[in-house]
Amino acid sequence: MDLGLRGKRAIVCAASKGLGRATALALAREGVDLVITARGEAALAETAAMIAATTGVKVAMAVGDITTEAGRAVALGLCPAPDILITNAGGPPAGDFRNFSDADWQAALQANMLTPIALIRATIDGMIARKFGRVVNITSAAVKTPIPMLGLSNGARAGLTGFVAGLARQVARHNVTINNILPGPFLTDRLRDNAATAAKAAGRSAEEELALRAKANPAGRVGTPEEFGDACAFLCAAQSGFIVGQNLLLDGGASNAAFG
Ligand code: NAP
Repeated sequence: MDLGLRGKRAIVCAASKGLGRATALALAREGVDLVITARGEAALAETAAMIAATTGVKVAMAVGDITTEAGRAVALGLCPAPDILITNAGGPPAGDFRNFSDADWQAALQANMLTPIALIRATIDGMIARKFGRVVNITSAAVKTPIPMLGLSNGARAGLTGFVAGLARQVARHNVTINNILPGPFLTDRLRDNAATAAKAAGRSAEEELALRAKANPAGRVGTPEEFGDACAFLCAAQSGFIVGQNLLLDGGASNAAFG
């Protein structure tokens, strides 16, 4: 299926590794020119080179912390008028909510709620004027099924979800869509690190921990970044203009609910 995106421009945030990287590659395969962001320059340069060599699209690097105004300015300076915006950043730390300080909450809100909103605010009017725009926010399955030790993530991402639910309905008539993808377990560095920490506490190896998680999932495995990237690219397709304000849960069926 041709997604009708050849020649479009995208900003893909937090894209040197993991889900952002896979999304950038999936969009590039559709002929989308990219600005990709991350704090670490070496991994970002490796990803940019790989995507450009594999697909032939233009890939520019925005090195910086996307949760800061300066980091966002670098990305927006390279691509002030994107057709596609993928918001993403690292997830907040786990812990008992009693130990979270105001600073912890501010950082989580900044990374996982206010940064996506700032990026949307900076780009959406141009999308409306051009009559094409696709915004996908990478959030978490924790938005629908809160994870007890991830209170910062549950709260900040739910705030973003509520805001964009309203905005998505205001911009849809201009062929500008905003949707969220809610990842369950995908095999990225973040999941490997999480599994290693949990494994240590339980006295088993990280491999055993990952195998247990895979077995517990209805799909009998964890997700691959590639299948995440392809789903995200589909939400950006020219044909996806009627998919508005949705929260697409990609978790292998782990959230056990009849609806949603
Ligand atoms: P990952 O494999 O650890 O990759 C994170 C990427 O984001 C890296 O490229 C990293 O590069 C970049 N990044 C992190 N913080 C950044 C910042 N402040 N500014 C710019 N770039 C930043 O993580 P992932 O698994 O792809 O996760 C992506 C998001 O999905 C996270 O918010 C995570 O919580 C969420 N999520 C993931 C899963 C999963 O199973 N993988 C499940 C639920 C939710 P630098 O470190 O160099 O900046």
